[in-house]
Amino acid sequence: MSPLSQNTLCCGDCIQSVLPLNNRVNQNLKTVMSQAKTQRDLRERKPWQQSCASKCLLPVRPMPKQDTFDAYVEPLLISREPRLCAYLARLNEFRKWVLTEVDAQANYTDRYALPALETYDRSGSVANRVVVNPLYDTQHQEIYRRGAVGLPYTEAAPHLLSFTMGFLLSQADISLHCPVTLTGAVAYVLGFHASKDMREKYLHQLTRTDACTMTGGTWVTELHGGSDVGATTTTAVPQGGHFALHGLKWFTSNANSSLAIATARPQGAEPGTAGLGLYLVPSHLEDGSSNRYVIRRLKDKLGTKGLPTGEIELLGAEALEIAGPPHGFRFMMAALEYSRVHNAVGAVGVQRRALREAMEWAKSRRAFGHRLVEYPMVQDELLGIRVRFEAGALLAFEAALTFDAAIEDTKKGTWLRLVTALAKYLTAEDAIRASRATLELVGSNGYTSDFPIARIYRDAQVLTVWEGPANIQALELLRLLAPRYRGAVEYEHRVRRIIDCLPDAMSSLRRALDSRLQADLAAIAFVIADDARSQRYARKLLDRLSHSFAFALMCETAAHCHSNGDERRVLTATRYYEQLDEPKIGAEDERVRRSAFELLED
Ligand SMILES: Cc1cc2nc3c(=O)[nH]c(=O)nc-3n(C[C@H](O)[C@H](O)[C@H](O)COP(=O)(O)OP(=O)(O)OC[C@H]3O[C@@H](n4cnc5c(N)ncnc54)[C@H](O)[C@@H]3O)c2cc1C
Repeated sequence: MSPLSQNTLCCGDCIQSVLPLNNRVNQNLKTVMSQAKTQRDLRERKPWQQSCASKCLLPVRPMPKQDTFDAYVEPLLISREPRLCAYLARLNEFRKWVLTEVDAQANYTDRYALPALETYDRSGSVANRVVVNPLYDTQHQEIYRRGAVGLPYTEAAPHLLSFTMGFLLSQADISLHCPVTLTGAVAYVLGFHASKDMREKYLHQLTRTDACTMTGGTWVTELHGGSDVGATTTTAVPQGGHFALHGLKWFTSNANSSLAIATARPQGAEPGTAGLGLYLVPSHLEDGSSNRYVIRRLKDKLGTKGLPTGEIELLGAEALEIAGPPHGFRFMMAALEYSRVHNAVGAVGVQRRALREAMEWAKSRRAFGHRLVEYPMVQDELLGIRVRFEAGALLAFEAALTFDAAIEDTKKGTWLRLVTALAKYLTAEDAIRASRATLELVGSNGYTSDFPIARIYRDAQVLTVWEGPANIQALELLRLLAPRYRGAVEYEHRVRRIIDCLPDAMSSLRRALDSRLQADLAAIAFVIADDARSQRYARKLLDRLSHSFAFALMCETAAHCHSNGDERRVLTATRYYEQLDEPKIGAEDERVRRSAFELLED
């Protein structure tokens, strides 16, 4: 934690002098910074270095007062996962830290202090040194120190805790949420799928909470593309007790990770995904030298600019086999499943943040003599962001809760994959939609970097691409709906259970959900009937089912709240349905509109 005053955050040297500097990058930074003490050096420093030397302080926005880590999400989660209760204070503290210090860092890094690469050192040896500014680096470690990856291993906390932290973190910085996700994904693969020896040697390094955590990377995407993993060209050649990897990984986020997992094909293995193995690639060898790969360059990206995403050329990199063919692909898919859930909760975090920015602006900005929030069209926009946030939160956390459930009971694997595909798709789309709507509401100011929404909007675009774009989620859905996986049966079963539990007081929602389900089942039957139709309509089906299931979850929540005397969720479910199946102009339910202020406050 910064020892500085509540509303300011020092941007460099001071922080590094009081916080532990344990990893390699930090040590390098410490050297660079201690060497740059003269005025001449200071002039030549990068902006982030100059600002600290001139004692410039980053503005930290005041925190809205609140007793929960999220007024909407918290009660939902603790009603379904009581183990989370033990972590509420930590989550609330995490939220405060994220929305103040991490947010300030994210804006600062995005504007002034992007990562830089030194592939070689001055003697010409491979250095693979990614220089990130010390605030980003320190906060990255601080997230692990707070247990975002470690607690499920060190205290048997549910993975839901990590996902919830991801939801909070992405409200400020997707560029930090990404590497934490990758580290969690590598830990998950090692923890659940690696040999005992490998687990004992490496898992602790990824899950420790002493600010010395090794961070992870997942290397799949190659030059030819990321979706068609079966076309992987990276090869794995046995060499002594390990493998030597050769190939080019085209997108590697957290490029300076200490431990990455990579897909590769052993010599002579069959083509396609069945011929893939999965390997653990340390950044450094036992003797401390760099492993045999080079980070060729860092990508110059639209958003997530604080996140170092590199191209890595494997030049016989030493790697340990986690699983040979045919299991390598399956285990990488396990990592991907974990990351997709993080992607979904992260996207909902973006929606939450967009809503907050939109509300604050609408309440304070005046036009034509009134605050924006008083105008019906603005209220409509705000309500739209709000109900979609609720829908997204329910979907994403359904996936997060199922993730833990599927660890206990592997029969839940199909449902996990199905609901994750729905959640990954819809939340990513709606994160972009919400941040775009907020940007428009904030107007010309929102288009500038003086306001955070411009960065958040740029960053949010990656959520549709990462971990498989929409069409890839649609293909996953098709697989799961096929008779082999019985996904259609599970879907119908889950929605019917919800319909059966809706009280008479919610009869119009029950009718709406029932007719939606009938149409869903007809659509599924039509689409999966033959290959040509499947290819043609899979994405439309994904879109339809993700909205339908989100609506079903909203009805379920509304019924639960209704039984406790709270009618507000009935109104949001109704409003959401009105967005799915738009009534004629003038036929909207005015009760929902009248409740707008109350709904928007939590
Ligand atoms: C900032 C950033 C960081 C990243 N970090 C990593 C990382 O750390 N590790 C990693 O491995 N990858 C990473 N990626 C890559 C990312 O996972 C891929 O972009 C993603 O998997 C899609 O692959 P692609 O971009 O090559 O698209 P392609 O696979 O070329 O697909 C292009 C388009 O075609 C569509 N498409 C493909 N196949 C089909 C089909 N059969 N039917 C219909 N449509 C289809 C896709 O939906 C997509 O819209 C990163 C990407 C970005 C932008």
